[in-house]
Amino acid sequence: MLLRLKNGLKNFKEVTYKKHEQLYHDLEQVQNPHTLFIACSDSRVNPERLIGSNPGEIFTIRNIANTVPAYEVSHNDFTTVSAIEFAIEVLKVREVIICGHSNCGGCAAALEGQEKLDQLPYTQQYLKPLESIKVKVEHSHHHKDAESKVRLMEQLNVITQLNNLKSYPQIQQLIAKGELEVEGWHYDIKSGDVFVYDETTRSFCKSDEYQNIHQ
Ligand SMILES: [Zn+2]
Repeated sequence: MLLRLKNGLKNFKEVTYKKHEQLYHDLEQVQNPHTLFIACSDSRVNPERLIGSNPGEIFTIRNIANTVPAYEVSHNDFTTVSAIEFAIEVLKVREVIICGHSNCGGCAAALEGQEKLDQLPYTQQYLKPLESIKVKVEHSHHHKDAESKVRLMEQLNVITQLNNLKSYPQIQQLIAKGELEVEGWHYDIKSGDVFVYDETTRSFCKSDEYQNIHQ
């Protein structure tokens, strides 16, 4: 075991666990998370730290480029779909967040094109659904620099995954009944800002501004 991991475990038991011992006791038999958080596997994205949540508060799905298969191709990714199903049907979360982020390697790879992924056949296959987003980016941003293209790719990817999530009848019913909210976020690692997708203006705005408009 890496020394860093060994020290981390020691610190957890002696400091973090000790400080929240009652919480861990309370959580022994039951979890009651309020939110399903779908994020990229990227090591720089830390959902719990981002929203300041305790254990038991968020149910998390992580994969490359925070993707959700559309309903009609749900059989392509049982890992993600079963976790969504469990969160919705059993845990009855009240909110789903799809969180993309800046400098996402998955989005950058999808933007560079399938041929660049010849050495990574699983990833190549996995990222194929993002090809249609790449086409949109190339069409609307063909004259822009690489940085703006990647950012647009990341944001359009969040919107696409939101739409995929909303293609499930169960999700549509819960939203219609007011029992579930879904939001798309784009987290900027360097600045620490989170931009929320506003469906009314079809743009991303800073989380505090979004709160002011929609509270
Ligand atoms: Zn990523």
